[in-house]
Amino acid sequence: MVSMDKNPFLRLVDVERVFSEQGRINPAIRGLSLDVSEGEFVSLVGPSGCGKSTLLRILQGLIAPTSGKVLYRDTLQTGVNPDMGMVFQGFALYPWLNVWENVSLGLVARGVDTRTIRKKVAFYIDKVGLEGYEEAYPRELSGGMKQRVGLARALCIEPAILLMDEPFSNLDALTTLTLRDEVLMLWKDPEMSVRTIVMVTHIIEEAILMSDRVVVLARRPTHVVEEIPVDLPRPRDRRDPEFDRLSDRIFSLIS
Ligand code: ADP
Ligand code: MG
Repeated sequence: MVSMDKNPFLRLVDVERVFSEQGRINPAIRGLSLDVSEGEFVSLVGPSGCGKSTLLRILQGLIAPTSGKVLYRDTLQTGVNPDMGMVFQGFALYPWLNVWENVSLGLVARGVDTRTIRKKVAFYIDKVGLEGYEEAYPRELSGGMKQRVGLARALCIEPAILLMDEPFSNLDALTTLTLRDEVLMLWKDPEMSVRTIVMVTHIIEEAILMSDRVVVLARRPTHVVEEIPVDLPRPRDRRDPEFDRLSDRIFSLIS
């Protein structure tokens, strides 16, 4: 069930990743192949501990596959892909830096000049609705606001691809609803560089609500079990009977 384009935008080919744990070599990912098209919103769902975060790290080039390949725009990826921004479940903010400083981190690391940093940070803080909170520290922010900082920081480097690792799972239900909508709006916003999103989630409803395709992953060592296109019109309606059909199908593949 793995679709293969002729000119893949992002492609994983027969990826394997092993970890050495207590002196034993254990595979986390084995035989995983996946294509992501430009402009697509893909969700990855799978059992806890199956290797989803590891897979995102491999995609971004933070860790290398033990064997297999990652191709981006037809080029073999060897290091960190500068065209990707990552949003984390636990926000990953520096508590001793304020909102402005946390957002600017990626640009500072890239040696961008101060004027450009100022312009971009202001623009993305505004985009995620945090204007007025530039000087606030993470401890002063709600979970939703922290994740907005995480989003602005990822967007600030103007990546083509946004990777999100369970981005809403530390948020309350209402904040989650709002932030899902906002991420979908940013994805379609012509002022944004991000065209393609790969999101890990364990909430099947979230995957169906947001993505063009749901990729179901197997237990560890993980690989693609099935890819399920979601052709429902947007904005999506949870009450659509097709929604339940898709949901049941994904549940049955995971359990
Ligand atoms: P998921 O995100 O799907 O919950 P992870 O990708 O975090 O899963 O982890 C997959 C498996 O690989 C887990 O069993 C985890 O213990 C193991 N693992 C992940 N990172 C490391 C590491 N750096 N060293 C050893 N084992 C790891
Ligand atoms: Mg994880």
